[in-house]
Amino acid sequence: MAAEQEQSYFEEGALVAVLTTQPLDRTLDYRAPAGGCFLGAFVEVPLGPRKVIGVVWGAGQGGFDLKKARAISRVLDVPPMGRDMRDFLVKVADYTITPMPAMLRLATRAPGLGDPPSMRKIYRLGEGVPDRETDARRRVVETLREYGGLAFTLGELAEMAGVSTSVIKGLVKQGVVREEASPRDLPYPTLRPDFGGVDLSEDQARAADALRQGVASGRYGTTLLKGVTGSGKTEVYLEAVAECLRKGRQALVLLPEIALTAEFLDRVETRFGARPAEWHSGVTLTERRRCWRMVAENGAQLVVGARSALYLPFRDLGLIVVDEEHDTSYKQEDGVLYSARDMAVLRATYCSAQVILASATPSLESWANAQAGKYRRLDLAARFGASELPEMRAIDMRAEKLPGARWISEALKAQVRARIEKGEQSLLFLNRRGYAPVTICRACGHQIACDNCDARMVEHRFLKRLMCHQCGETKPVPEACPKCEVEGRLAPVGPGVERLAEETAEAFPEARVAVLSSDLFASARALKAQIGLIAEGGADIIIGTQLVAKGHNFPLLTLVGVIDADLGLQGSDLRAAERTFQLMRQVAGRAGRSERKGLALLQTYQPEHPVIRAILSGDEEGFWQAEAREREAAGVPPYGRLAGIVISSPDVQTAFDLGNQLARQDAPLRQVQAQVFGPAPAPIARIRGRHRVRLLVKAAKGVPIQKALTAWVGQLRVPANTRISIDIDPQSF
Ligand code: ADP
Ligand code: ZN
Repeated sequence: MAAEQEQSYFEEGALVAVLTTQPLDRTLDYRAPAGGCFLGAFVEVPLGPRKVIGVVWGAGQGGFDLKKARAISRVLDVPPMGRDMRDFLVKVADYTITPMPAMLRLATRAPGLGDPPSMRKIYRLGEGVPDRETDARRRVVETLREYGGLAFTLGELAEMAGVSTSVIKGLVKQGVVREEASPRDLPYPTLRPDFGGVDLSEDQARAADALRQGVASGRYGTTLLKGVTGSGKTEVYLEAVAECLRKGRQALVLLPEIALTAEFLDRVETRFGARPAEWHSGVTLTERRRCWRMVAENGAQLVVGARSALYLPFRDLGLIVVDEEHDTSYKQEDGVLYSARDMAVLRATYCSAQVILASATPSLESWANAQAGKYRRLDLAARFGASELPEMRAIDMRAEKLPGARWISEALKAQVRARIEKGEQSLLFLNRRGYAPVTICRACGHQIACDNCDARMVEHRFLKRLMCHQCGETKPVPEACPKCEVEGRLAPVGPGVERLAEETAEAFPEARVAVLSSDLFASARALKAQIGLIAEGGADIIIGTQLVAKGHNFPLLTLVGVIDADLGLQGSDLRAAERTFQLMRQVAGRAGRSERKGLALLQTYQPEHPVIRAILSGDEEGFWQAEAREREAAGVPPYGRLAGIVISSPDVQTAFDLGNQLARQDAPLRQVQAQVFGPAPAPIARIRGRHRVRLLVKAAKGVPIQKALTAWVGQLRVPANTRISIDIDPQSF
């Protein structure tokens, strides 16, 4: 194999090609430093007057005055990037049409990677005896003993012993705990594959066995693990993680939402006796640095993280779990546009790892791949403990005749009342943050819109402001209409969760109402606290947005009322049906997760809509087959290829002119029988003052569309303030 013949070590003075994070279209040649360097080494190189980070990418290209080649300044103190990772980055770059330096930036998101090591404080068991025994102190000592001689960071030790940091500092003063300065990042506490675990049901055990065998094989393979919420998917895939740990390989679990990590880390601790490494935007810089380094040095056995964790420098990655694999947040919509689900599968092929895609409501893509035999499919039929999925029924809102500005039907109210009497919880689901989606002037009809986006401003009473959900801009609610200047006539139209909470409090004055919406919580910790409170019965009625659809466990919840089941079905997006189907089933799955039976009620104005009917009937396979047929007929993913080209400019005419020009010059596309549609306003037509125009390109599967797209878009001369981005496999079409 060519890979084995490739030179892997360069002696001092040898010419090497270095890929840097600078936006250049090629590698740069440097001389290997004293002591030489390995292929894949992370290095610091001089570039003009600066020093930049790079990776040794191969032998130098030469072709210029070799005497002028400068030397690599320094080889960084981290293991070289492995071949699997380099190949993976090249492949993602090709697939998503991304320049390599941008890929390298993704792969080197470690704060202070080039900095000299700084000292940090670590804690281990000392010789001293405490002046006084307390429970908290005993727990600290026991935790340190249990891990025989290992050192911890202060936060870690406090977390694992369940004490405050002041307890540890007190013990340091008495010499019971030793504080040391270490120039190194600490490895994460060892996870023990056989620490915890539950007795699996027959169904679960079968699935766990199959997954374990996959991991044990040491080969690539992807499994779709499907089971209703509460069927034990997490319990089952943690068995695969355990097997991976036993084999001494690293594992990665991707979660769609940071808000879910806290709960998940607790579960890992219960199962494996310690907490894993964490990687997402909410993690401190010190911890991120530690995570990156320890992943590279094999000091982290398991990483729990967001999609960018895929680009961490794993030494030997044996398993990737993509939990809630259908979740749209796995698609990165900024910078490098990639689907973390698809890239996880790709990465696994390069490092002979197993992939588990877990979901109660898989994406059509994964379902189709399983149908086609590309993925193995494992189904967990029964839900653990509870006997069945909640019963689902529609409430025909046409018959309800609600008064104005009211959204809870009498039929739904009666069910909520019955739950309150039994001491059970109800969830009212509405996927709309804020108080009201529209603020209208009753005098002139003007609707308050964002100044910079093609979006209405949404009133948030809790924050006492209007907010644009597209750009996040907020402003105070005005007294007078910004258009006609008449005062006191601005009125909210339509429901948001805050307004729904008002109606609920009015209808059930004696009930305790809790609202779960991302913008009402200052931190993930505050949210976790609220979720914990609700789980323990601290609320009778929960009002929630999409946030509650994802993975939280409320044992007392037996009723789910969907306020507007039709909400997602408007618009022309071909994925609307799939999304609504997934969301409704996820939300309904919140009801009756323990022994009590659940009921889900869908308020709808179109109970005969095929998607609503499919949701109610529970005939999932039938729904997917029908969806698949439609997509196939339209030639769109997963049966055809799509790419979105978005042209954005401060000037709408410029954007459209460029779009039209592209549409005319379609020869490179016609060569591969690809079709162009548009230009048309993009799904987000204006954001932060930039107008966005989109063209869609459709091609048959297997067509090398990236090459054609590059040639096609390359024909354009793009003005300075205009940007073009290419999105392979766009989310909406
Ligand atoms: P899912 O990931 O499919 O939603 P979970 O793995 O979270 O399901 O399981 C739901 C709940 O049931 C969790 O609290 C889990 O610990 C529990 N559970 C699942 N299987 C078992 C089992 N075999 N024994 C005991 N508890 C279980
Ligand atoms: Zn805006």
